Amino acid sequence: MITFENVTKKYVNDQVAVKAINLEIKKGEFFVLIGPSGCGKTTLLKMINRLIPLTEGTIRINEKRISDYNIHELRWNIGYVLQQIALFPHMTIEENIAVVPELKKWSKQQIQKRVYELLEMVGLEPDKYSQRKPKELSGGEQQRVGVVRALAADPEIILMDEPFSALDPISRTKLQDDLLELQRAIQKTIVFVSHDMQEALKLGDRICVMRDGEIVQIGTPQEIIQNP
Ligand code: ADP
Ligand code: ADP
Repeated sequence: MITFENVTKKYVNDQVAVKAINLEIKKGEFFVLIGPSGCGKTTLLKMINRLIPLTEGTIRINEKRISDYNIHELRWNIGYVLQQIALFPHMTIEENIAVVPELKKWSKQQIQKRVYELLEMVGLEPDKYSQRKPKELSGGEQQRVGVVRALAADPEIILMDEPFSALDPISRTKLQDDLLELQRAIQKTIVFVSHDMQEALKLGDRICVMRDGEIVQIGTPQEIIQNP
C-alpha cells in the first residue's frame, strides 16, 4: 500500500540522506524503521506525507503517486506522532483531538463521540480529561493524547517518529503495550521510527534496518533475531 521506487533524498548540501530505496509496506502492517542516528529514518518517514520533498524516485500510496494527492487530503489521511509532545498548549484535550475532524467538517456530535471513544481507548477517562489543558497532564498522558490525536479522523496510515523515547521506562513500556493492543483493534498501517532494537522487536510485524541511507536488512522479528 505504501511503495518506494528508487527513492533518493539529497539535502541542499548534497548530503545523501536516503539512497535509491525500494520498499513495500503492506496495508495494516506495523512497520519499524531502525538504525543509528543520521541513517535516514526520519527523512524516509517525512517523505511519505510530503513534509520532505524527494530528490529522485516515486512514493505511492494505494498505487497513486503522493505528488498526485491534494496535500490536505494526504496530510489529513496520515496521522503523525512526534517524539516531542506537540499538543497545542492553549487548547483543551478535546480541542486538540478535534483539530483534523474539524478541518474535515465533521459535525459537533460526531467529533465529541469520537473524542470520548478515543480517550477511553487509551485509558484516559473522558469526563476527567477532555476539558483539561495539556500542562495538567503527565508526559505519558500527553503522549497518549498525541497518539489519539493522530488517529482522530480515522487515517489509513500513522507515522510515528520515536514517539515514546522521551518517556520514563515504565510509561514507555505501558504505551508500547497499549499501542500494540490498539493496532490489533484498528488494523492501521503504522510506520514507526525507533533506535531501540528491543522496542522494534516488540512492536514490529516487520523491521527495516537502515545504515547510511540504505536498507541493510528487512524481515520479521524472528528473521532479524536469526540473522543478526
Ligand atoms: P535519522 O532519522 O536516522 O536520525 P535523518 O533522516 O534525520 O536520520 O538524517 C539523515 C541524514 O541527513 C543525516 O546525515 C542528517 O544530518 C541529514 N539531514 C537531515 N535533515 C537535513 C537537512 N534539513 N539538511 C541537511 N541535512 C539533513
Ligand atoms: P527531526 O528528527 O524532527 O527531523 P532533527 O533533530 O533531526 O529533528 O532535526 C531538526 C531540524 O534540523 C530538522 O528540520 C532537520 O531537517 C534539520 N537538520 C537535521 N540535520 C541537519 C543537517 N545536517 N543540516 C541541516 N539541517 C539539519
